[in-house]
Amino acid sequence: MERPNIAISEEHFPPCINNILNGLSDGRKRSLFILINFLNSGNWKKEQMNEFIVKWNQKNKPPLRDSYVISQLRWYKDREKRLPPNCKGNGWYSDFGACQPNELCGKQNKTIKNPINYSFKSLNPTRKFRKRKK
Ligand code: SF4
Repeated sequence: MERPNIAISEEHFPPCINNILNGLSDGRKRSLFILINFLNSGNWKKEQMNEFIVKWNQKNKPPLRDSYVISQLRWYKDREKRLPPNCKGNGWYSDFGACQPNELCGKQNKTIKNPINYSFKSLNPTRKFRKRKK
């Protein structure tokens, strides 16, 4: 079964992404990288994603410089979709306290390997998804 080609809505975001969205003091740049790749992989339109991320940045303590956020968004604009880092990657979610697995993440994060898979699983819990063929 191929991954769905619809924009992932916020109700299907995993705990780590929701924690990031609450705003952070540590891990802000890494979170920006995560959010860009997560939303991009979740089929968000560029304009929608940019607006969402600029708004999110205002919740950070303190916010990243607008020029930094905009330069990162520009840099990713025409790039191929890339997955966000895997759940267990060193220096990512657990490192700044964003990974707080719930039941869907699975015991000791064994079910979900990447936050985007959480969202696809949440959209349709009974299906097994694989990458869309190019
Ligand atoms: S296990 Fe993965 S999807 Fe779940 S909260 Fe942690 S990083 Fe996010």
